[in-house]
Amino acid sequence: MKVLLVEDDKAIAESVVTSLSSAGYEVANVSSGRAALDALAIGRPDVVLLDLGLPDQDGLDVCKLIREVSSVPIIVVSARGDELDRVLGLELGADDYVVKPFSLRELTARIKAVTRRGAPGPVSTASSTELTRLVVDQRTREVVVDGQRVDLTAKEFDLLAYLAEEPGVVFRRTDIMEHVWDINWYGTTKTLDAHVAAIRKKLGHPDWIQAVRGVGFKLVEPSR
Ligand code: CA
Repeated sequence: MKVLLVEDDKAIAESVVTSLSSAGYEVANVSSGRAALDALAIGRPDVVLLDLGLPDQDGLDVCKLIREVSSVPIIVVSARGDELDRVLGLELGADDYVVKPFSLRELTARIKAVTRRGAPGPVSTASSTELTRLVVDQRTREVVVDGQRVDLTAKEFDLLAYLAEEPGVVFRRTDIMEHVWDINWYGTTKTLDAHVAAIRKKLGHPDWIQAVRGVGFKLVEPSR
């Protein structure tokens, strides 16, 4: 498992590199947004840990730039920890968010959650769910809508695949959070809303995922 750590604080970087390395991860550390984009192209990491306070540009911009060229899972790491950063990070394509100081245990739990491949859903037996216009393939993690491949982030895929297990059935917010994010996301379900918004946009029609007020979401094939 290759981790790209984008962190300019030497002490923090060193401690994360040391702990993750001893936990069996292969870690590369860069200290600027520019270096992160270069390293991404060369190193093909399995996950990016992205500090928001970088010397050359705002981490949120870096997040957006990474997302334009890659669907690698991104965990935003920030000392700021305010709600706006958190929501913005997720809207710009980050998969998860940790606030400094964090424990190694918390960090590895989140790395595992965002890199988990093809995790089976509770009621899934089929490897792919086929509506007429949407194919969600759990094995290859590919999504095709109206014959066009759609690039989703890891968490967007997990969320869509979960809803696609039973099209038309309403999934509760709490169940979605627990299933897709693995650990309880403290305080907010804006994460979920941000991901729903991103998926709708990528699928090309807002009606693909319908909100059921006070309950949750369901996947429905929109009428053209
Ligand atoms: Ca920093």
